[in-house]
Amino acid sequence: MSTTPVIGVLALQGDVREHLVALAVADAVARPVRRPEELAEVDGLVVPGGESTTISKLAVLFGVMEPLRARVRAGLPVYGTCAGMIMLADKILDPRSGQETIGGIDMIVRRNAFGRQNESFEAKVDVLGIEGDAVEGLFIRAPWVESVGAGAEVLAEHDGHIVAVRQGTALATSFHPELTGDHRVHGLFVDMVRENRTAAH
Ligand code: GLN
Repeated sequence: MSTTPVIGVLALQGDVREHLVALAVADAVARPVRRPEELAEVDGLVVPGGESTTISKLAVLFGVMEPLRARVRAGLPVYGTCAGMIMLADKILDPRSGQETIGGIDMIVRRNAFGRQNESFEAKVDVLGIEGDAVEGLFIRAPWVESVGAGAEVLAEHDGHIVAVRQGTALATSFHPELTGDHRVHGLFVDMVRENRTAAH
């Protein structure tokens, strides 16, 4: 068994390339995923930032929404940033009509929550499980988490709002570590994928 996990990046829309680079730096084999056959071959999946309504629409159109739900339900490790966080929420506030999510994390997410105050900003964020300095959080029309269920763990807050959550093998951040050159959050996710593979074998 090779020790290098293969991690896909859902490549329907959004900042796919930046995640591929961050995952490679964090010692994973990274590849874009669009089709159900590609999804079947990865040990973990990143859902990138972008526009959640577009990602939702394209996932349905490409026939990958149901396979995504099934694999996440079966325990595929997933990490969502920003729009990706929205896609991993069991429930969202203010969805556009017809907008669907993959789900997987028992949390309620408010789209564009920070965006109403501030289109885009940077802030230092202390993330549970990340050693050393705070993470430079880049927030772009970012969501926040209104509340989490009993199974979900809050990893970080900013200004009294939840901005990072973990539930088992699923991770989500409101901000974009793939755009800052600090790949420790991707490192945390790669470790989660590795541990999950070890547990499965
Ligand atoms: N506001 C976007 C959405 O609702 C998310 C923005 C982002 O991913 N940077 O999907």
